[in-house]
Amino acid sequence: MQLYKSQPLKIHNSLSGSKELFEPLNEGHVGMYVCGPTVYSNVHLGNCRTFLSFDMIFRYLRHLGYKVRYVRNITDAGHLEDDADEGEDKIAKKARLEQIEPMEVVQRYTVDFHNILQKFNILPPSIEPTATGHIIEQIEIIKEILENGFAYEANGSVYFDVVKFNKSHAYGKLSGRKLEDMIANTRDLTAQDEKRNPQDFALWKRAEPQHIMRWPSPWGDGFPGWHLECTAMSTKYLGKTFDIHGGGMDLKFPHHECEIAQAEASYGKSPVNYWLHANMLTLNGKKMAKSTGNNILPNEIFTGENNIFSKPFSPAVVRFFMMQAHYSSILDLSESALLASEKGYHRLMEAMEALEWLNTSSSSDFDVAAWRQKCYDAMNDDFNTPILIAHLFEAVKQINLIKERKSDITQEDKELLQASMQAFVYDLLGLEGKTAGGAADSNKLDGVMELLISLRNEARANRDFATSDRIRDQLAALGIQLKDGKEGTSFSVSG
Ligand code: AMP
Ligand code: ZN
Repeated sequence: MQLYKSQPLKIHNSLSGSKELFEPLNEGHVGMYVCGPTVYSNVHLGNCRTFLSFDMIFRYLRHLGYKVRYVRNITDAGHLEDDADEGEDKIAKKARLEQIEPMEVVQRYTVDFHNILQKFNILPPSIEPTATGHIIEQIEIIKEILENGFAYEANGSVYFDVVKFNKSHAYGKLSGRKLEDMIANTRDLTAQDEKRNPQDFALWKRAEPQHIMRWPSPWGDGFPGWHLECTAMSTKYLGKTFDIHGGGMDLKFPHHECEIAQAEASYGKSPVNYWLHANMLTLNGKKMAKSTGNNILPNEIFTGENNIFSKPFSPAVVRFFMMQAHYSSILDLSESALLASEKGYHRLMEAMEALEWLNTSSSSDFDVAAWRQKCYDAMNDDFNTPILIAHLFEAVKQINLIKERKSDITQEDKELLQASMQAFVYDLLGLEGKTAGGAADSNKLDGVMELLISLRNEARANRDFATSDRIRDQLAALGIQLKDGKEGTSFSVSG
């Protein structure tokens, strides 16, 4: 039986503002879309937090037995710098500054993005589509929105008519904003005169002659508006309505709000059942931003080459640090917090190692099955990794007591504890310690030791004490002690 049948999962849905029982559209299958990076600069640690959060969610859904199609896009068609469709295309600007092709910019930072995510042990998505690879699909959606009367053309650009849409639909339902308030707070921008209302957003922008990233369309040469690609790619690979859409909290408005509007205006359907938003990473209590210098790149943390921290921290420690906070809480990065995480991470990894070699007894002082369910309860409660980690440390305490022979565990419980710890630590939290490969090695060692112990038992049964003593003594010379007990022979490794 699949785990999801016995482990009901509750997810906080940003659309309803409450925790809801997760029920996918098709039993056993989950479609999940997460907004990917705009590849015009190195991915910063804040971006990584969002991708780490959704990696954990992806891993847990898979662990529960769902077949997950996880789509995470690459934004390689430039957005304009301003939410109000003003300013320069970020990718083209970088290309101009570095005197390279826009596609060289895209390639360079896509490679950087993949490298960094790999260091964090973030699993690749099932599909990673690019905006420039889906221009035709985007044009098709614009045609539908125009046909349905929710967009208008102006000088080769096409804008979404927010005011008209809001008359029959609820624009602002995800972010909780009201159009009237938006209208009251609108800045007066000169280049907005093409728009009927300042709140309208571009579906297609006419390309000025100097604009390099351009495509032909029924409205002339241009490029798609920022929000359209995600509607095009999510519906193409996951359907007009799909299960989960995620991204950073800062994308709720306008990006995700506009995605909802585009889908409803073209297909007449609400596109997403569960909206999930990961919260921001701050640095020393302040928003991480490139412009203020209050920001750090992942590699600068891993190598220690930065002016913020006194020592380097490994990707696994940084990952563990991020997992110690709930994905929907703001998390502050500081030296003291990283040092504490590093200590905790090493304690956890030492316990993973010790767990392999624990002696077993005829009774257990630790209810492993009940503990395991508590771990699942934490994850089922909107992916509560900090509570899960607290439970993992409860197990660490028990492991250390058993190691010091102050507590007992049966073989059966030890196996359940081992399997559960490996699932939670490696598969769900995605932590890879030195014991990650070691787990496979230790399985091999167990097999070899079983063989040697049975050969020694055979020698003893044949009264061949020279051979049985040789096995015991040579193992002792290697630091492996055999212990003959009532329940057979066990072994321990020293050093
Ligand atoms: P971008 O490349 O700017 O579109 O960002 C990629 C992803 O990173 C988006 O989901 C953003 O919401 C997210 N993001 C940006 N800044 C931060 C931050 N400081 N903390 C967490 N996530 C962030
Ligand atoms: Zn998006």
